[in-house]
Amino acid sequence: MKANYRRCISCRRIGIKQEFWRIVRVFPSGQVQLDEGMGRSAYICPQSGCLSAAQKKNRLGRSLHTSVPETLYKTLWQRLSQKNDEQSSSNQPEST
Ligand SMILES: [Zn+2]
Repeated sequence: MKANYRRCISCRRIGIKQEFWRIVRVFPSGQVQLDEGMGRSAYICPQSGCLSAAQKKNRLGRSLHTSVPETLYKTLWQRLSQKNDEQSSSNQPEST
């Protein structure tokens, strides 16, 4: 199967589609959402560096030609912290 390559809007790293989060401006409603939908799409690495750069420099908004709601960034940050939790769950310090 041929790999499907995408580019991160922040660091411009190229990788297979599955490595990135997909943000979609849905056609024709113009609503911005994650993962699913038909329309203009932007891709970003699931990393804090890329996410914060995208947010500060409005790269997502520019890439999608629309304004990206704050809630969408919040969702991505939440997703990122969940991902990190999963990764570090094996050696988490005891908290009492
Ligand atoms: Zn990136």
